[in-house]
Amino acid sequence: MKTLSQRLASNKLRVVILIVSTFLLQSCDNPFSIALHDPIAPAPGDQVTYSLEMMDGEAPKNVRLYERVTTLKVKDLHFMGFHFQLLLPIPGQEVLLRTWTNPSLGTLSYTRPNKMPGSSMITYRFEITQHDNAIGRHEVTYAGRDYPLAEDAVPIYVTGDTANTYDIVFIPDTDITNLADFRTHCRKNIREAFFDEQTTRMFRHSFNFYMNRQTGHATDYDNTSTDGYHQVPSNDARIGFAEGRVLMHQNNLRNYAMGSLYSTEMQNRGTILHESGHSLFGLADEYDGAPHWQADVLPNNWDSKSDAEADLPPFSVPIIM
Ligand SMILES: [Zn+2]
Repeated sequence: MKTLSQRLASNKLRVVILIVSTFLLQSCDNPFSIALHDPIAPAPGDQVTYSLEMMDGEAPKNVRLYERVTTLKVKDLHFMGFHFQLLLPIPGQEVLLRTWTNPSLGTLSYTRPNKMPGSSMITYRFEITQHDNAIGRHEVTYAGRDYPLAEDAVPIYVTGDTANTYDIVFIPDTDITNLADFRTHCRKNIREAFFDEQTTRMFRHSFNFYMNRQTGHATDYDNTSTDGYHQVPSNDARIGFAEGRVLMHQNNLRNYAMGSLYSTEMQNRGTILHESGHSLFGLADEYDGAPHWQADVLPNNWDSKSDAEADLPPFSVPIIM
């Protein structure tokens, strides 16, 4: 039997919820806002538009948008028959792109006049100053899809250190016929799934998203006896750091999760969230007719009434008014 602290320590999200809910009492996200860019994985030569959606709350005093372009060089190293690649980032100066004074709630957007440079990574930052001079920030880093480490997934929306965030890699399935569609759905799964569902969107600074260039293959859960289980991409060892490796396919399948590897129709926002519930957050199915297993760590289902009752004391949380 694990102690409560061991159980909490092994469940990243719920610890984060406890910490952040305390934090929210002290700082406010006003107005509530979401930063995003389009296209999500630009090619060299594309024009990129940044947007800040400001929803609930008060209109700010001003908003500033900054940007820094980092050139990526790769050094090839050969040692005892092995080949290593070292990424050498050369950061440029941060520049102020635009200031909005007394903007209304709604969406601010700015299209960068310069085209996406090759072999580079860009960090943009919206700084939102409220009327009491409190400042809220969004800082996002993305790379061009010619990211020079060919075996790595392309960072498309990175908000923080991989050790402190959920890392999610979108993998194109071999059944995808239009990669432009796939990239559009990568962006939509960020905005219309993770940043739309209320709980995950509150943690929008705790997710990093990547796009894989190597394909994988999802199978239908009902056909695994003939088709086998999900197949990982050839660079799977390079994306093992991710808590979520998502096989995004276009044909309808009965989807399932195997550890951190899970499948979804690329166009189905409900399914990606459902399977993320299993892989990222350790939740068991609750719907009728599903296998209602009892998870080892912080279960949401119990095998018996007595198991549920046994867990009751550590789960009761004092209410502080
Ligand atoms: Zn399920």
